Amino acid sequence: MPLPSALPCTKSRLIAVALVTLGFTSLAQAQPIQVVTSFSILADMARNVGGEHVEVTSLVGPDSDSHVYMPSPSDARALAEADLVVFNGLQFEGWMNRLLDSSGYQGELVTASEGTKPLPYSGLSMEHAADHADHADHADHQEHGGHAGHDEEEHHSSHEEHAEEHAESEAHAGHEHGKFDPHAWLDLSAGAIYAANIRDGLIAVDPEHEQDYRAQADAYIKEIKATDAHIHELLDAVPHDTYVIVDHDAFGHFQRAYGIGFLSPVGLSTDAEPSAADLVKLIEIIKQRNIPALFQENMVGPALMQQLSEETGLPIAGTLYTGALSESGPTSHYLGMMLHNAEVLHAGLADAQHQEEGHQEETHKH
Ligand SMILES: [Zn+2]
Repeated sequence: MPLPSALPCTKSRLIAVALVTLGFTSLAQAQPIQVVTSFSILADMARNVGGEHVEVTSLVGPDSDSHVYMPSPSDARALAEADLVVFNGLQFEGWMNRLLDSSGYQGELVTASEGTKPLPYSGLSMEHAADHADHADHADHQEHGGHAGHDEEEHHSSHEEHAEEHAESEAHAGHEHGKFDPHAWLDLSAGAIYAANIRDGLIAVDPEHEQDYRAQADAYIKEIKATDAHIHELLDAVPHDTYVIVDHDAFGHFQRAYGIGFLSPVGLSTDAEPSAADLVKLIEIIKQRNIPALFQENMVGPALMQQLSEETGLPIAGTLYTGALSESGPTSHYLGMMLHNAEVLHAGLADAQHQEEGHQEETHKH
C-alpha cells in the first residue's frame, strides 16, 4: 500500500524539481549581460555590438561632461553588479580607477581606446597657433607676457622642441602636457577599433554568444567605415588649412583624420577655466588668422562662445558633440553624432573663403 502511493509522489517531485531546474536555466539564459560604460558614446557602441544579449548602463549620461564628473555611490553599486566594464582610457576618465577600486569590481575590463593610433598632445592648441603666427611674420611677442616660463629662443625652436620644453616646464602647471589626446573616438577609424575591443570583451564574458557578437560587430564596423568615408567626402569640400574655435582641445584626432584645424582656450580637459589673458590672446589669434567661425560643444555651457562671438563679431556656427551624446534625436547615437559634426562643419565652412595670405598682409601693419 505505501509503495504504489510513493511512486506518483516521487514522480511528481521529480517533475517539480525538473520544472524548477528548467525555470532557473531559462531565467539564466534570458538574463542579459550587464555592461557598464563610463560615458554615453561607449554605451551606444556596446548596445550596437551586444544587441539583445546585453543591458548597458552608462555612468556619465547624455550631454554630461566626463572630464569633471563626480561619481556617486550608485555608480560603485552599478560597477559591483556589472559583468563587463568598458571605459575609454588615455586618462579621459580621471575618476575611473578610484571608482573601480571602491566598487571592488574584479571582472573583465575593456579599455576601448587600446590599439588606436596614439596622438601625443603637445600643449594648448592656441599657443602653437600663436607661435606659428609669430614664425610667419616675426611679430613681437608681447602677448606672451603672461608666460614667464617662455624665453626668446623657445619661440624660434621647432614645434617638437617646443612641446618638450612645455612638458618639462613647471610654469605651465595649469596646462596639460606630456599626455596623449584621449578623444580618439572622434576619428571613426579609431571608433572601429573601439567596437572590436568591446566585441572581444563581450566574448570573454559570454562566449556562448560569440557568433552573435562577431556578426553584430562586423555589421557595426561596416557602418562605421561607411560613415567615415562619407565624412571624408563632406569635409574634403572644406579648405584644409581652415581653423575654427571650439571650447576645449577635443578635436586632435578629428583634425588628424579629417583635416580641419581646431583652436581652443583650454587644454584636453574642460576642468580648467580660460584666464582673461588667454581669452585676449585667443581673440588676437582669431583676428590674425582670419578664423571663419566659432562652434560650441554640447556638454559645455554657451557662455564662453557667446563672449567670444560678441568680442569678435564671429557667428557661433553650430553645436559640436565631443564627449557626450544627446538625450534624443540623431545625435543620441555615435554615428549620428559624428555625421552631425561633419555636416555642421561643412555647412559652416564650405563657403568660407580662406584668404589667410592676403589677410596677414593687411592685419600685420599694426
Ligand atoms: Zn574632452
